[in-house]
Amino acid sequence: MSEAVLETRNLHKSFGALKATDDVSIDLRPGEIHAIIGPNGAGKSTLIAQISGGLQPDAGSVHLSGRDVSGLSTAARAQAGLGRTFQISALAMEDTVLENALLGALGQSGRPWQFWRSAARHTDLLDRALAALDRVGLSDAAEQVTANLSHGQRRQLEVAVALTLGPKAFVMDEPMAGLGTEGSKTMTTFLDGLREEAPILLVEHDMDAVFALADRISVLVYGRVIATGTVDEIRASKEVQEAYLGEEA
Ligand code: ADP
Ligand code: MG
Repeated sequence: MSEAVLETRNLHKSFGALKATDDVSIDLRPGEIHAIIGPNGAGKSTLIAQISGGLQPDAGSVHLSGRDVSGLSTAARAQAGLGRTFQISALAMEDTVLENALLGALGQSGRPWQFWRSAARHTDLLDRALAALDRVGLSDAAEQVTANLSHGQRRQLEVAVALTLGPKAFVMDEPMAGLGTEGSKTMTTFLDGLREEAPILLVEHDMDAVFALADRISVLVYGRVIATGTVDEIRASKEVQEAYLGEEA
């Protein structure tokens, strides 16, 4: 599996007696959207947190472009090319759209005052921030206060923040959450194109979006991957029906 852009190997994470992540090995290949689905409490967010560095696994490792990033901080993983968006927004609501994008381009570990000393660096950051806003269709809103954006626009801005660091892979936890039908459609179209920039590991509840977007789906139940396959394979799987999809239908 050397072609994987992002890979987890045998991740384990327990909270007391609860196995939130139980031997999870998944991979993300160039150009693909790999969706992670499963009932509430299955361990999806816990998995994402271990990949992005917010949570240290009990055992196992995370690899980005073949490099073991398990020992790196969240900020260092972002600098290494792991672009993530959150289930709960991490934007600075009182700052402008452009300021949020600039903060992303700085990387959270940066010391702004050192960066701002260099005019060349300043221009480079501004260029990257503006290009990312343009990519997500928020150029016109650059000077607006972030709190004024619609929910969908905030989601787009989160993607722009991730884009500023030139990610090798995206990790997204429920980007459709809170979006209406129209918003979800817009986001689905957007993510469909975004996979050309970098593959996406997508945790999502919206099954219309998952079925429309996913090249592969992995199903998590009680912390374990019970199946990985194409949309058709997952829909046809009896085990998945019983464990998860059956309850939705
Ligand atoms: P999902 O995102 O699939 O809904 P989570 O990863 O949020 O699931 O949670 C998986 C399980 O781990 C749940 O039973 C949840 O209550 C538990 N859990 C998550 N985070 C913690 C924590 N920090 N401490 C204790 N239990 C946790
Ligand atoms: Mg979750």
